[in-house]
Formats: sequence, structure tokens, C-alpha cells
Amino acid sequence: MKNKIFSAIILAALICAGSYFLFFQKKPAFVPYRTFYSEVSDGKISEATISSDKINFKYNGGETVFSTENPDSPALKEFLLLNSVKITEEQDFSEIISTVLDVLFYVIFFAVIIFAFRKFISPNTFKTVHRTGVKFSDIVGMENLKKDMMQIADIMKNPAAYRAKGIRMPKGILLEGAPGNGKTLFARALAGEAKVNFIPAKATDFESMFMAIGPAKVKLLFAKARKRTPCIVFIDEFDGIGTKRNYSGSAIETENTRIVTALLNELDGFTPHDGILVLAATNSRDALDEALIRPGRFDAKYTVPYPDFESREKLIEKYSAGKNYSFDPKILAKNFSGFSCAQIESVINRAALVASQQLEMRKNRGSRIFFGLLLY
Ligand code: ADP
Repeated sequence: MKNKIFSAIILAALICAGSYFLFFQKKPAFVPYRTFYSEVSDGKISEATISSDKINFKYNGGETVFSTENPDSPALKEFLLLNSVKITEEQDFSEIISTVLDVLFYVIFFAVIIFAFRKFISPNTFKTVHRTGVKFSDIVGMENLKKDMMQIADIMKNPAAYRAKGIRMPKGILLEGAPGNGKTLFARALAGEAKVNFIPAKATDFESMFMAIGPAKVKLLFAKARKRTPCIVFIDEFDGIGTKRNYSGSAIETENTRIVTALLNELDGFTPHDGILVLAATNSRDALDEALIRPGRFDAKYTVPYPDFESREKLIEKYSAGKNYSFDPKILAKNFSGFSCAQIESVINRAALVASQQLEMRKNRGSRIFFGLLLY
């Protein structure tokens, strides 16, 4: 309480002092500029203090301060000096504030730029997975695709032997297919089988509110890949960055065009013998820029299909393993026609969840996934 009263007294004293200086301090007598001008010309003025809106001055031998307007003329200072007036230039409070604000603006501006570059192009943006630990045997079905991938893994493991046969490793492979059918899984399995590093990235990693960061990130990704060879660079949602270039001039299109151009430069910048393989996953190849899918860049293209009946059956068995269920996987596989692998996993998981909730509610008769599936 005492402290509050003390603070209030100090505040009141400061306000009074401020008001006194502002309103009651004796102001110098005003002299019209025209009179001031002629008296300077006659050599009657000894000193002048120039501030942004006024000039305070003293007559020869006098101590009284007079004031006139500052005409803000570029010739003023020279005119006073030529007439032997001693000049003092006073910086206004507003000028000091504006200088401080200017400095502050530059400091904040550069701090934001440095922060943005450090945050958005942090060297840790793309993490390397040294061993994915995924094998082709973890992938259910898709036997044809697995065979092709096995051969690519073999080329990556024995590049010299294949080179002797005149077979080079593809630089880029496009995996096309609906989401949830295992494009990422295939990429991880390929890295696992070939025992190479895996660097995953996705379209959103290249997005930024700042222009030119997207292309810089493409460069960063490939700079990292060059340091981590042999490796697989996996770009998910590739249609998010590799879309057809459009020269409309809009900011987003310009950024996209620059990203695609940076990608083309990077793909052309390494040879098939450098030990970098770029795998790109897309839902639709038609949306991609033609220059990207030209042979020599993304020259191998594979479709990751929806699981067939047999694969669905195996997936159902795989995802129901360890769960208490009473359904025929064959019947369910028939009903799951058109489902992606991820959808099958999600339905079975949800069914088990619903079944266990029902069990909680009824507290009898045993948890049966089949029951959950019916409810789903
Ligand atoms: P995409 O990259 O095509 O969107 P993902 O590879 O992320 O699909 O797969 C989604 C989920 O489905 C993952 O949990 C993955 O393990 C599983 N999955 C997909 N395809 C298969 C498959 N053929 N065998 C086993 N699991 C699969």
C-alpha cells in the first residue's frame, strides 16, 4: 500500500514537472523571420540555435533569447555562417525518435530475415534415416512391382557389375497411385533392401511464406543427398511441387516455376553413378511438368495399384493378427474391394475399437471384431 502511494506521488510529480516545462516555461520572445533576416545581414546576431521548427538566437553582447520560425531553407546555414553567426544545431525529440525507429526497423528486418533463413532453411530440415529396416517381405502382395524394385535394389547394391553390362541405375523413379497403397512403404523397403540411406521429403517441406526459400530448400535437399551417398531421396506428394510450370507471373506460380527449375537443375547435376536415386510419389502423373518426367530424369515409372483380392485377404489377416475376431477374411476381402491398404488397416483398427467399446458397455459375451465391423 505504502509503495503504491509512493509511486502515485512520484508519478504526479513527474506529470507536474512535465506540464511545467511544456506550458509554463518562459518562452523566448518571437521575432518575425523577415526582421531576423535583415538583422543577420546587418551583423547584429551573434549566435543561433537551429531546431526543426524554430531558430533561437541572441543579439551581439546580449543574453536574452529570441525566437523566429525556421524557414527550412537549404541556404539558411550558409547565410548565417557568411554573417559570422555561431550556429548550434539541435536535434528534435521527434527526430531522435525517428532515427531510433529507423535503426530499430533495420535491426528487426534483418533479424526476421536471419530467423526465417535459419528456421526455414535449417540444415536439419531433411533428416537422413540411415537404415529404414523395412524389407520387401513387409509388403503384402504387389508381386510384380516387388520384382522390379528388387532389381533396382540389386543395381544399387552392385552398380559396377551392372555398369559392366551397360545397365545404368535410373536417376529418378516415379511411383504413381492413390494414397495409402504403399508408395512410401515401397520407397522405404527399397532403401532397406539396398542398405542405403533414406532421405524423406514432401511437397509441404518446400512451402514457405517467403519467396525463393522453396528453390533454396531443393538445393539443400540435394546437397545433403550428395553428402549421404549412396542414398534414396524420397519426395512424397510430388504433384504438390512438380506441377506444370505456368508463366502467369503470379507469386505462387513464380515460386512453383522456380522450384521445378531448381529440381531440374539438381536432377541434371548428378550422374547415375553418383549413388543418388530420387523416388517421387504422386497421385497423378498428368499434373507433372513434362520436363521432369522426360527420360534421363524420372525415366522409370511404376504404378502402385489398389490391392487385389489376394492382397486384401493377406492384409486383413496381417492387421487382425493378435486380435480376437470371428470373420472369414475371404468374405471381408470381397467387401473391401476398392479399398486402399491404409483404408483396410483403418477399418480393422476401428472395428476392434468399436468392439472393445461395446464390450465395455455390455460387459459380457466377449469382444468380437466381427461385431465391430458390422457396426462400422
Ligand atoms: P502412400 O505413400 O501410397 O500414401 P503408405 O506407404 O504411406 O501409402 O501406406 C499407408 C499405410 O498402409 C502404411 O501404414 C503402410 O504400412 C500400409 N501399407 C500400404 N501398402 C501396404 C502393403 N502393400 N503391405 C502392407 N502394408 C501396406
